[in-house]
Amino acid sequence: MEMKPFEKKVWLSTPTMHGEELKYVTEAYETNWMSTVGKNINEVERLVCEKIGCKYAVALSAGTAALHMAVKLAGVKPGQKVFCSDMTFAATVNPVVYEGGVPVFIDTEYDTWNMDPVALEKAFELHPEVKVVVVAHLYGTPGKVDEIREICRRHGAVIIEDAAESMGATYKGVQTGTFGDYNAISFNGNKIITGSSGGMLLTDSLEAANKVRKWSTQSRENAPWYQHEEVGYNYRMSNVIAGVVRGQFPYLEEHIAQKKAIYERYREGFKDLPVSMNPVDFANSEPNYWLSCMMIEPQAMCKQVRGEAEALYIHEPGKTCPTEILEKLAWLNAEGRPIWKPMHMQPIYRMHSFVTREGDGRAKTNAYIAGGAVGADGKPLDVGMDIFQRGLCLPSDNKMTEKEQEIIIQVIRSCFD
Ligand SMILES: *Cc1c(COP(=O)(O)O)cnc(C)c1O
Repeated sequence: MEMKPFEKKVWLSTPTMHGEELKYVTEAYETNWMSTVGKNINEVERLVCEKIGCKYAVALSAGTAALHMAVKLAGVKPGQKVFCSDMTFAATVNPVVYEGGVPVFIDTEYDTWNMDPVALEKAFELHPEVKVVVVAHLYGTPGKVDEIREICRRHGAVIIEDAAESMGATYKGVQTGTFGDYNAISFNGNKIITGSSGGMLLTDSLEAANKVRKWSTQSRENAPWYQHEEVGYNYRMSNVIAGVVRGQFPYLEEHIAQKKAIYERYREGFKDLPVSMNPVDFANSEPNYWLSCMMIEPQAMCKQVRGEAEALYIHEPGKTCPTEILEKLAWLNAEGRPIWKPMHMQPIYRMHSFVTREGDGRAKTNAYIAGGAVGADGKPLDVGMDIFQRGLCLPSDNKMTEKEQEIIIQVIRSCFD
């Protein structure tokens, strides 16, 4: 096969428009509903409730805004610890800090790459006073929902579910975005469907939904003038953005099917390599396959060292590493990405508590420069660090052709030469 860079870049994940978006945006324009009120907003809230199976949906400017509102609803106060997924995008945890809360990071499990219930239980032993847990479903794959809910129930903790990446994915036949007390989805440009931006707070509590409707529109009281009893936010979704979401909505299942086909082609293409795909608990869940990822077996990892902003590796025959693969993908004009760097490894959160299955794992942090699943001190890396070290996100754009994907697979295979 001829190997030369693609003329047109193959992206990680980009918006896919279908035409109906323009119809609803134009309708908003022509009827002059160009604000944060209008038919598109009402309609997307209705559509989301119908699809996801929640009672109330409040359309907001971003998934991050929805998570912020969820943290407020959960009553997080300054200085309070909150248990959070560790291997996730920073927007899962930043809203805790907006309210003065202190994230405590819970290590990841290898079965779904999400919050480890064993580590969560350990965290409640260490910090029994904690009353809020923020849990994400990474890359569109549902985590261990039953186990996490059972632990939270026993400890009387509120769950905030970050379903920003997993819209349309199900666990035991039920949509993600319904398992927490307060849940968030996102319509950011790279998500499974998009509004170009936007997000929603989902809940079954009318009181909670009403609070978010009020807070997100500047907390105006019912008075003839601007009257305020609470801090307000300008977080409501625009009716123009809602038009885009409304036009995208009928294509959610089509996008999922395309992403699933991409995942399966990668799995097939790598089946004789010392790698695995991002794992799925097929007995319990059906992901939305938002991003396809791979992880290299420890024995097939060449030496790779990552600093704060650069990485180096030494190629060895039969071995490779995420840095080498990402370099080759960049040469090919295809966009891959490292696994979301765990929060406990981030400079901003490095001094926060981090709980592994074995207990407080913060002391292990300086071992992450080592290759494979074992740190320089001979001890195993924590799970998040290990997946970050050995894993990467593959080009997963649903507009990538089969031919392009075949070439991407060949280029990745050549890294193992
Ligand atoms: C995208 C994302 C968010 C934030 O959503 P925005 O709409 O971009 O604000 C939150 N959490 C996770 C896991 C995400 O991937």
